[in-house]
Amino acid sequence: MGKTTGFMDYEREEADERNPLLRINDWKEYDAPFKDDVLSRQGARCMDCGTPFCQMGDVINGATSGCPIYNLIPEWNDLVYRGQWKEALDRLLKTNNFPEFTGRVCPAPCEGSCTVAISDPAVAIKSIERAIIDKGFENGWMTPRIPQKRTGKSIAIIGSGPTGLASADQLNQAGHTVTVYERADRAGGLLTYGIPNMKLEKDVVERRVRLLEQEGIDFVLNTEIGKDVSAAELKDKHEAVILCTGAQKQRDLVMKGRETNGIHFAMDYLTASTKHLLNGENDFINAKGKDVIVIGGGDTGADCIATALRQECNSVVQFGKHPKLPLARTTGNMWPEYPNVFTVEYAHKEATAKLGEDPRNYSIQTKHFVSDEDGDLKEVHTVKMEKFRDENGRFVFNEIPGTEKVWPAQLVFIAIGFEGPEQSLLQQFGVKATNNKVEAKYGDFSTNVENIFAAGDARRGQSLIVWAINEGREVARKVDQYLMGSSVLPSYLEV
Ligand SMILES: Cc1cc2nc3c(=O)[nH]c(=O)nc-3n(C[C@H](O)[C@H](O)[C@H](O)COP(=O)(O)OP(=O)(O)OC[C@H]3O[C@@H](n4cnc5c(N)ncnc54)[C@H](O)[C@@H]3O)c2cc1C
Ligand code: SF4
Repeated sequence: MGKTTGFMDYEREEADERNPLLRINDWKEYDAPFKDDVLSRQGARCMDCGTPFCQMGDVINGATSGCPIYNLIPEWNDLVYRGQWKEALDRLLKTNNFPEFTGRVCPAPCEGSCTVAISDPAVAIKSIERAIIDKGFENGWMTPRIPQKRTGKSIAIIGSGPTGLASADQLNQAGHTVTVYERADRAGGLLTYGIPNMKLEKDVVERRVRLLEQEGIDFVLNTEIGKDVSAAELKDKHEAVILCTGAQKQRDLVMKGRETNGIHFAMDYLTASTKHLLNGENDFINAKGKDVIVIGGGDTGADCIATALRQECNSVVQFGKHPKLPLARTTGNMWPEYPNVFTVEYAHKEATAKLGEDPRNYSIQTKHFVSDEDGDLKEVHTVKMEKFRDENGRFVFNEIPGTEKVWPAQLVFIAIGFEGPEQSLLQQFGVKATNNKVEAKYGDFSTNVENIFAAGDARRGQSLIVWAINEGREVARKVDQYLMGSSVLPSYLEV
């Protein structure tokens, strides 16, 4: 433990954010890393408690608590306090393949479970993680680790999101020959074409992909398995196949007026916007001068708000079905659970700075859309909802009469979640799915078809990058065992 009294001597400090009114004029990352002296103080706040809940990832009451990849947080906090950055990096890379992603965009369930957070603001774990890996790259410590021996076994990974990248990294280090197939023109999955540039700059993703290439992983882009290459061909060519295809099939709103021009899925908007930014493609949805409504109260919706602001929309509001969260934990949501409390995300700060008020509207239900004579969106009609428990203890929503409202709008983005992976590829492989997710037990990852495995969002549903890394590493170990009889790879599950 670095400084015995650190948690009493120092306050939590937040990472510096660029001025919201200025940063909406560009697409660069909205926050800036801590300076070294701040990092040392923040590392010193770690109490090195006997049972570090921060690093014990689990799901409690449906939410992630603690770090799902069991990062050795107290160890690297101490090393950062002492200024031993290279040693901190070595400890971090033992459990996390891509800290430059999680250190930027993980929702940090570790911090909700930090013991200091029982009475004070948590240790700034995520910012420390980011600083360790950023220093690793800046100081030239992140060099290609080219495997000395090859096993001669060939593995196909479908999808280059964080699950595919993590499993590719592990299997390559075990000496296998790994090919990652990706239908998009760039690798990264939602890291590239989902999470916007101001949250995760795309050269951070590309830097990692280049490193993996130098280490021997083959990326085959612009290639959709099931269309450009059949499932049978792929199965014949490789000794094992891992489905890391994500869960990008979007949930739709089925209601009157849905066919109106100007209503889009959030992902179509975000993907096209990043393609415009990276490739200069002009076929994108432009919110300039428009009144925008984002339907869906989650993070994908927030990313749409931040994107629309950068495109100079006229106004933007966000509808959420649930009531506003409380400012502090309730008795039903105690530590070390993930704190379900009111937060103000980067996009909400930006909208408030630009438009004068928080864009969020709670307990609201969209009823229908109205178009003008050209079929273009003109209005969105809503009603307020009351949420309560019925006699069986289940949450139900009732409309409140007299709360109907008409919102003028020319653009709507639907961000109400994802249904699961696209089923056509699964059908080609003959892989079973339940509730739209690939049937493959966590910890085993094999499907009903010999030598076909599945991991990440395709298996568990839309989730988090940190879970994608967890599953990518674990499925790699299972595939290694399947091919070699035993595995040289580490596991979070089998110690
Ligand atoms: C807008 C948005 C913002 C998010 N923000 C965050 C965040 O801030 N923090 C966080 O932790 N999580 C965030 N998430 C969730 C996170 O991005 C996902 O949980 C994670 O990317 C899942 O990784 P994956 O590799 O399983 O799937 P994906 O990242 O979805 O990657 C799947 C890949 O498979 C490819 N593919 C699919 N089918 C085929 C095929 N037939 N042939 C070839 N390639 C194929 C796809 O093109 C894609 O590249 C966000 C999600 C969205 C949608
Ligand atoms: S990966 Fe996420 S949960 Fe784990 S230490 Fe980093 S920020 Fe915390």
